[in-house]
Amino acid sequence: MKKEKENIAMPETEEGTVLFNVPFPKDLKQLKGMSPIITLQHYGINYIHSYGQDSPFFAGLANGRLLGTRCTSCGYVHVTPKLHCQQCGGECEWMELPKEGRIHTFTVCYFGSEEFLKETPFMLVLVEFAGAKTLMLSRLLGVDPSKASVDLIGKRVKPRFKRNSKFKPTDVYFVLTE
Ligand SMILES: [Zn+2]
Repeated sequence: MKKEKENIAMPETEEGTVLFNVPFPKDLKQLKGMSPIITLQHYGINYIHSYGQDSPFFAGLANGRLLGTRCTSCGYVHVTPKLHCQQCGGECEWMELPKEGRIHTFTVCYFGSEEFLKETPFMLVLVEFAGAKTLMLSRLLGVDPSKASVDLIGKRVKPRFKRNSKFKPTDVYFVLTE
């Protein structure tokens, strides 16, 4: 009972009154006891970002093509692309993935990072492609998260691409094909 009472609190938000002045003592000795001034500040930086060796993957997304890589030594196919084979370390070449995959597994997200919080609940899927050894993590659209069930596992899905590319992994998402 005591614990329940401790949990009662008004919800806090970050906005407040704009403050142009603060109380200031005549006797400067009192400044040592002053509480810290705390304000809300915006923080942001611009920087030059390189996609490096991953650039072809994002160029593919911008052109409605989903690319993976194949090891030229052992043939291991990576879905999220790797320029060097995670199996043998050999050099990989770019390849287009099949136009369709299957749901390996899924989850419904009721919480997320700040960018995606407003979109909750949403679904994430791990997609398997024929011939590929790794899985692709992506969003599944068109399925009501409250109706998600294990029946989804094994269902065929196809990628869709944002028309206006943001050059982010979220440029691609999946929908059911059946
Ligand atoms: Zn290899």
